Amino acid sequence: MAAQILDGATLAKQIRAEVAQEVEHLKAEHNITPRLSVILVGDDPASVTYTRMKKKACEAAGMISDLIELPGDSTQQAVKDVIRTLNEDPTVHGILVQHPVPKHLDELDILSTVAVEKDVDGISALSLGRLVLGTADFVACTPLGIVTLLEHYGIEIKGKEAVVVGRSIILGKPAALALLERHATVTVCHSRTQDLPSVVGRADILVAALGKPEFIKGEWIKPGAVVVDAGYNKVEGRDKDVGDVEYETAAQKASWITPVPGGVGPMTIAMLLKQTVKAAKKYGAANV
Ligand code: NAP
Repeated sequence: MAAQILDGATLAKQIRAEVAQEVEHLKAEHNITPRLSVILVGDDPASVTYTRMKKKACEAAGMISDLIELPGDSTQQAVKDVIRTLNEDPTVHGILVQHPVPKHLDELDILSTVAVEKDVDGISALSLGRLVLGTADFVACTPLGIVTLLEHYGIEIKGKEAVVVGRSIILGKPAALALLERHATVTVCHSRTQDLPSVVGRADILVAALGKPEFIKGEWIKPGAVVVDAGYNKVEGRDKDVGDVEYETAAQKASWITPVPGGVGPMTIAMLLKQTVKAAKKYGAANV
């Protein structure tokens, strides 16, 4: 039987409508308009697209969004100075530095300059440390989107065997921690994992986050597994982007699956908006 769809596009739309209502309320009752400042260093085409999408989504929800574009040859100090200024600005509630920054910069140092109360992307050292402790205010948006999607569809995480393929700081590691926090038994795989098919085959919940088109084959998947594909890959000659999982065959084995596009992707921006509103509510002062 074909898997049921974890429809991130529809859920994200619903969440964004709820966020817009909360923004209305914050404006009317507390004179706060949630404001997100996005910093883009350089002109990587994918990053330019993502930052514009984020700005547009904020504005559609009635929030303020600034896109601060810095030259690709900016120094570490220059980028950190911009972040520090935003940290001090009480009218700014959320700060996001678009990943990846140019290679000559120390990304972790830059991300960790964002004040933890404004780290709505959840990937500073302090936010990640708090995620380990189970006390994070803000969680990296893609992993948060994944667990929100699972919870929305009533998928039991507690006690399940979860396998996360990928261990990046923006996705794999925080996804593993978010699942652990919800009492899954978690295995994290990476490029040195031996016999990936048999590890994947143990998963009741599989999160694919390795960035390799259709690398995970349907035949590896345990019958009835829940498959969450965070991958987003351009493939020459294909008219739409593809995930890290071979969708057609996986959908025959899984009980639930995310489509690509329309699964994890839209949830990421919805979580960014939600966390910016949370920051404004929890730490913000009137700014209108
Ligand atoms: P990344 O930083 O390149 O990390 C990839 C991870 O996959 C690494 O941990 C790597 O292992 C592991 N890996 C690579 N080849 C592997 C293999 N053959 N077997 C097992 N593990 C392997 O990527 P990322 O930034 O986490 O992104 C992953 C994917 O998610 C990409 O397709 C990206 O476009 C997508 N993404 C989507 C969203 C969204 O909003 N939907 C957001 C962010 C990213 P090592 O650590 O050993 O190198």
